[in-house]
Amino acid sequence: MIRLFVPDDLTAGRPVALSAAQSHYLRDVMRRSAGDDVVLFNGRDGEWLSTIAATGRRAAEVTPRERTRPQTHGADLELVVALVKRARLETIVEKATELGVRRIRLATTRFTQAERTNVGRLSAIAVEAAEQTGRLDVPEIAGPARLDAILDTWPPDRRLIFCDEAGDAPPMLEVIAPTTSAMAASILIGPEGGFAPDERAKIRALRSVIPVSLGPRILRADTAAIAALSLWQAALGDWRP
Ligand code: SAM
Repeated sequence: MIRLFVPDDLTAGRPVALSAAQSHYLRDVMRRSAGDDVVLFNGRDGEWLSTIAATGRRAAEVTPRERTRPQTHGADLELVVALVKRARLETIVEKATELGVRRIRLATTRFTQAERTNVGRLSAIAVEAAEQTGRLDVPEIAGPARLDAILDTWPPDRRLIFCDEAGDAPPMLEVIAPTTSAMAASILIGPEGGFAPDERAKIRALRSVIPVSLGPRILRADTAAIAALSLWQAALGDWRP
């Protein structure tokens, strides 16, 4: 079943006009027409079985019929990732969405190669991944912001799981398993060039930081993000039995 994310409020019987891109996708790519079913969600009102009312030349119109799932939100899990090359960053956004993060915060650090990025494109990638994975919401994408500024305003009740390839951190599972999933958590992944020594010192000085190792090999930033999020979901998140 085709799932589409829409910004509109969803209530039974009130038609929703789709975007030009979504209308083209339904009509010309998926060859759907009036009377066919699709599923809509907006991150607030749950998931709705809906019927295509019209697919005319302009915006297609879809009418929600029945709510099939109430709105839920996953754990307050966030990924803080230093900007890396475009293709790798897009992979990180797609995989982090599939792995259930609630927010992706983009950070610039001493060794980040890029200072800017196309956040609109990253949001579109997150929407597509959310549509395909059955999520009921789309992660927020925040930033880019300087790592320094992020650390200066770090909320004390938010755990920061610092993926540190320096080699002196304990294995991630060993340190996170005993903690609770109730606490909001963020996973920090550095740039291709790693963190500068003073950045590492500032991160490790945070009271709620948990430095962790992802094993003896230096992983690419995208691999590290996927590995850390998978471990978190298995140990504390929605992969648990
Ligand atoms: N500084 C490294 C180097 O020597 O080139 C590379 C950094 S790595 C490509 C990017 C980020 O992935 C790191 O900053 C860290 O956050 C994470 N990472 C990679 N391998 C890791 C490991 N074995 N343990 C913990 N974190 C790791």
